[in-house]
Amino acid sequence: MQFFPNVKFYKSFRNVSQIQQEKIPPIPAVAIVGRSNSGKSSLINALCNQKKLALTSATPGKTRTINYFYVPSNKPQYKEFFLVDLPGYGFAQLSKAENEQLHYMIDQYIANAPFLKMILLIMDSRRKLEKEEYSILNYCLDHDKNILLVRSKWDKLKQTEKEHILKEWKNDPILFERTIPVSSLKKIHIDVLIKRIIEIFY
Ligand code: GDP
Repeated sequence: MQFFPNVKFYKSFRNVSQIQQEKIPPIPAVAIVGRSNSGKSSLINALCNQKKLALTSATPGKTRTINYFYVPSNKPQYKEFFLVDLPGYGFAQLSKAENEQLHYMIDQYIANAPFLKMILLIMDSRRKLEKEEYSILNYCLDHDKNILLVRSKWDKLKQTEKEHILKEWKNDPILFERTIPVSSLKKIHIDVLIKRIIEIFY
């Protein structure tokens, strides 16, 4: 099983200006963004083969900070980088203003974060893209930023559902070539995702 070994929590930031002001090492960042409860924390834990590196939804919507994790380069094919956990959006118990503030933080991060090399937009395989996802996706496509659409909880689907959804996804080739269905629980396609991440370093 492939994973990023020895990943450690680095630091939490309240906003992008704080990141810009800090003297963080000039190494690439790969950011994970997604709706609250989409499986973002579980994915970080699966990628790093740890149980509690990112906190899963005991308190959904609580994480309002930008959390940096340091991924060392202890295999020849891996370069060191930061895995960045952006706050989950769309949590029902947040007010409209609070959700807007979160989106602002995410947009600012994607537009201005130093050394941002790739964005992983995670969403439940069974969901359709909504305006939040289109907004992130279109921004990245318009600004030539690497983006992958990571479709989570793939294990929850029956074979017939998978076939149906895959057919639907294939209707949009621009999206489809950037789409990876995964299961953090059953470790499905985590290796494929890791391969796509490390490709950006070469
Ligand atoms: P976050 O709010 O985006 O960080 O989402 P979490 O990682 O906390 O996951 C939300 C819920 O979905 C939790 O109950 C997880 O156990 C569940 N979950 C996450 N990934 C998977 C997966 O690959 N398969 C299944 N079956 N459940 C998952």
